[in-house]
Amino acid sequence: MSVEFAVDADGWVAAARQLPSPNFEARPAGAVPTLIVVHNISLPPDEFGGTAIAELFQNTLDCDAHPYYDSHLRGVRVSAHFVIHRDGALAQFVSCNARAWHAGPSNFFGRERCNDFSIGIELEGSDTTAFEAAQYRTLGALVSALKARYPVDALAGHSDIAPGRKTDPGPHFEWQRLQKDTALADQYFPYLKFSKTL
Ligand SMILES: [Zn+2]
Repeated sequence: MSVEFAVDADGWVAAARQLPSPNFEARPAGAVPTLIVVHNISLPPDEFGGTAIAELFQNTLDCDAHPYYDSHLRGVRVSAHFVIHRDGALAQFVSCNARAWHAGPSNFFGRERCNDFSIGIELEGSDTTAFEAAQYRTLGALVSALKARYPVDALAGHSDIAPGRKTDPGPHFEWQRLQKDTALADQYFPYLKFSKTL
């Protein structure tokens, strides 16, 4: 089953479930999205389904509902442009034209503040679990749509731009599968070590 998306001039994907987050701001003058950052998230950790991710991004999460929320998420203001759920369903929280708050302190080959020039995509998942085929299908189609709208020239994991601080999307994320699905050249994956022993 093939999936196709389009990003409109306002930075929204009409086919996504739109759940606007208040956690965004304008990109700095002249900044355009050139980097796609892939993350994983699950709330509570390692539990899938439910509405906690959306609630976190919309500042409506009840931090009394789980000890992890209480200890880690109280007062936290974060967002990503997109979340891809386990069934491949796509939700959008912030216009791609705006700066979402997904990467935190980060460095892309010497360039800091990656939120300024990136689009953040969260896969519902964890560092201990394989992602679903439906998630790769949606991700591949979304990356293609983003590349059609913006001068995207690289993809990275959160762990690549915040090493030592972040581990997502984790060891189960298949970068080569994403590369195959998107038919993007090696140069788009600057952190990927390409095997010379195919
Ligand atoms: Zn992350």
